[in-house]
Amino acid sequence: MKFTFVTLFANLVEGYFEDSILKRAIEKNLFFVDYLNPRDFSDNKHSKVDDTAVGGGAGMVMNPQPLYDSLRDLKKRDKDVHIVFLTPVAKPFRQNDAKRLAKKTHIAFVSGRYEGIDERVIEEFADEVFSIGDYILTGGELASLVLCDAISRNIEGVLGNSDSLSVESFETSLLEAPSFSKPKNYEENSVPSEYLKGNHSKIRSLKLALSECKTKFFRPEQLLKHRTRKSYEK
Ligand code: SAM
Repeated sequence: MKFTFVTLFANLVEGYFEDSILKRAIEKNLFFVDYLNPRDFSDNKHSKVDDTAVGGGAGMVMNPQPLYDSLRDLKKRDKDVHIVFLTPVAKPFRQNDAKRLAKKTHIAFVSGRYEGIDERVIEEFADEVFSIGDYILTGGELASLVLCDAISRNIEGVLGNSDSLSVESFETSLLEAPSFSKPKNYEENSVPSEYLKGNHSKIRSLKLALSECKTKFFRPEQLLKHRTRKSYEK
């Protein structure tokens, strides 16, 4: 798997891969990361990549030419590249998207800056568009990293223990049960006593009950989904 970050600010992205799990995954050649800067393709003598909005409006918009040329170059080098644009107006990115996209061979994330990207570029090149939430970031780099991180942990071998994927929140409609680490007692607080008794079937039922409580509290709509599915299964 390869991830290409199409960005004016590769330096904002690079650091994320310099430590921890994703660094180790790159060292093990489980995926590769590279960068494409639309500015390098600008035919403007000052390498400009943005201009005022046609029809008026505040701020600058990223010009089509540098992006058309950089994305054409990318597609010429790999016709199978899957091009994803980050934009706040798109559908929200979800765990099932992360799992589905982990099966691709090459994903390019296109980050906007300023007031965004000329719409013609998105129309011409997007295989998919995603938002990471209902708020506005200054650029798409953080959003690209969010997608890349969530996708890459679904690539086989990236997580030390792949079992952790199957019990995580959003794998089913329920959120994951609360987790505890050692020591068993910390200051005034102890872990639930059932967790300590070694009866795995009881621990499983308690975890399910806690999982339902947590889902009810934080994401009641998810609990409803879970119960509806259960009643269909009966
Ligand atoms: N003017 C745009 C609007 O109101 O929809 C916002 C542009 S934003 C300042 C600049 C860039 O940041 C966008 O082109 C996009 O790439 C990225 N961005 C901002 N918020 C985002 C979000 N919630 N999800 C994904 N990308 C986002």
